[in-house]
Amino acid sequence: MYDVLVVGAGPVGLTAGLLFQRMGINAILVDRRSTMNRHPKARNLNVRSVEIFRALGIEAAIRKWDFPREARRIMWLESFCGEELAKVSLDNELAPCYSPCEPSFLSQALLEDLLRNSIEEDHVSIQYRTELIDFVEEKESIIATLQKETGETFQVHAKYLLAADGARSPVRKLLDIPVIGREDLGRFVSIYFRADPYPIAPYRPSAAYFMLGEASFGRFIQSVNCKDEWLMGIKLSTEMEQNDSDFHTDYCLQFIRETFEIPDLKIEILDIEFWHMCVQIAQNFRKGRVFLAGDAAHLLSPAGGFGLQTGIQDVHNLCWKLASVIKGQLSEEILDTYHEERFPTVQSNIDWSRSNAKGYSAIIQARKSGDRKKLQDLISSTVLNSIGQDIGFSYQSGLVVPDGTESLAITATQYLPNARPGSRAPHLWLQGPEGVISTIDLFVDSFTLLTDSDGKSWSKELLSMNPALSFRCVSIHENGHYKDVNNDFHALYGIGRGGAVLVRPDGHVYWRAVNSTLL
Ligand SMILES: Cc1cc2nc3c(=O)[nH]c(=O)nc-3n(C[C@H](O)[C@H](O)[C@H](O)COP(=O)(O)OP(=O)(O)OC[C@H]3O[C@@H](n4cnc5c(N)ncnc54)[C@H](O)[C@@H]3O)c2cc1C
Repeated sequence: MYDVLVVGAGPVGLTAGLLFQRMGINAILVDRRSTMNRHPKARNLNVRSVEIFRALGIEAAIRKWDFPREARRIMWLESFCGEELAKVSLDNELAPCYSPCEPSFLSQALLEDLLRNSIEEDHVSIQYRTELIDFVEEKESIIATLQKETGETFQVHAKYLLAADGARSPVRKLLDIPVIGREDLGRFVSIYFRADPYPIAPYRPSAAYFMLGEASFGRFIQSVNCKDEWLMGIKLSTEMEQNDSDFHTDYCLQFIRETFEIPDLKIEILDIEFWHMCVQIAQNFRKGRVFLAGDAAHLLSPAGGFGLQTGIQDVHNLCWKLASVIKGQLSEEILDTYHEERFPTVQSNIDWSRSNAKGYSAIIQARKSGDRKKLQDLISSTVLNSIGQDIGFSYQSGLVVPDGTESLAITATQYLPNARPGSRAPHLWLQGPEGVISTIDLFVDSFTLLTDSDGKSWSKELLSMNPALSFRCVSIHENGHYKDVNNDFHALYGIGRGGAVLVRPDGHVYWRAVNSTLL
C-alpha cells in the first residue's frame, strides 16, 4: 500500500512528489500524458515559490534559467517596433530585505523537467501514460483503478489521494465537489514559437510587452528565453470558438508577423494550446481521504501570474500535514486545516488577480483617452508590486496558537515582516557551521523552535501543552547553533530576551512566547 497516490504530474503534483521524497513518504504519481509538457504556460515563480524550492535544494538550478536583470520588467509599447510608452521593473527594491530569494522567470515546462529530474524512484515513483479512471474510499484507504495507454487496468491502494489533476479535475468530478465562480470569461489560444525579430526590431529585452497602439492594440507578447522563444495569447472570437481548425497555422503566422510588424519574420510554431479563462474555486479542498490542489482546486485570472504559485503553496501546506499523520506524529483531524487555511488564502489570490485584471482594463481606457500621466500612474500601480500578496498571507486554524496580538494590516503591495502566529516566519540571516543561511532554510520537514537560549525550558513547556509535538530546537545567540548576523532576531520575531517561536515545517508560525515570563 502506498502512503499517497498523487493524480497528475503537472507542476503541482511534481512539487508534492518532491516534498514527499524529502519527508520520506512512499508516494506514487500517475499522469495520463505520454510526454512532458513543452508549453511554457506559467513563466514566473514568485518569491514564496522560490523560497519553497530553495528549501527543497533546487533554487540554484532554477536560477540557471533566470532572465538577465535588465529584462526583468514589463514594457508598454505603441507597437513592438514602435514608441515606448512605459516600462516597469519587476524587481521590488525591498524584496531582498524580506527574503533570501528573488522571483524567477523560469518557464513552467522547464520547472516541470527540473522537478521530475529531482525526484528519485526510491520513495516516489512516477508513471506516465497512466490514467485514473475511478476510485473508491474504504475506511483506511483509497482503492484506485488506473488504466495504462495499452488499455490494461490495475488497482493501486493508498492511504490518501492527492488530486493535482488540473482544471477539469476528473477526481473533483467523481467526488461531486461543486465549484464556485465563473467559467465564461473567454476562450484563448496560446502560441509558443521561435523567431528572431531583433535584426529589425529595437533590442529592448523584457519579460513581456503590451501593445497599446492602434494596429496591435491590446496584444501581449511574452518572452520565454529572452532571446528567440516567445509566447503569445490571442482571445478567440465567438466564430473561431466554433472550430479549432479555423485557428490554422497561417492565421497564427499572420497574427504574429502583424504584431511584431515584420511581414517576412521567420517563425517556427513550437506548440499551440487552447484554454478557457475561468475564475473558480472548489467549495471544499478535502473530501474524506482525498485532497484537491492546484488547478483542480482553483482557477485564477492570469493577470498577476499567481495561478501556479497558488498551487505550489497548496501542496506546501498539505504535504507535511499528511506526512505527520502518516508517521503518527499528529492526529488525522489536523488534515481539515488544509481547507481551513488554504481556502481564504486562495480566495484572496483570486480577488487580487481579478482586481489586477480590472487594472489592465483601466490602462487600456487611459490609453484610449490619451492621458499619458494617468497611463503611467496606472501602469506603475498595477500588478507589479505584489510582495504582500506573495509572502504576507497568514493562516488561522487549529494548527496556529494565537498569542493575543492584533492581526496586521498587510496589503497586497506591502509586507511587514512579523512572526505573529499564522504568518510566514520572517527571513533572517544566520551565521552557522555551514556558513550564512536564512531562517527560511531551516523550515522543511520538522517543527523548529527558535529561541535565544538553549530552549530546554521551552521544550518542556511545549511538550506539556502537547506531548505529541516533535520539534528540533535552534538557538540563535553568540554561543548557540547560529549567530544572528544583523542582530534582528528579537525585533523581527517580535520577542524579548528569553522568548521563543515554534515554526511549522511549512515555515508558518505555530506558536510564539513573547518573553520568558510565560514560563
Ligand atoms: C497558456 C497558459 C499560461 C499560463 N500562465 C501562467 C502564469 O504566467 N503564471 C501562473 O502562475 N500560472 C499560469 N498559468 C496557469 C498554470 O499553468 C497552472 O496554474 C498550472 O499548470 C497548474 O498546475 P497543476 O499541476 O495544478 O495542473 P496541470 O498543469 O494542469 O497538471 C495536471 C496534470 O494532471 C493530469 N491528469 C488529469 N487527469 C488525469 C487523470 N484522470 N489521470 C492521470 N492524470 C491526469 C494531466 O495530464 C496533467 O498533466 C497559465 C496557464 C496557461 C494554460
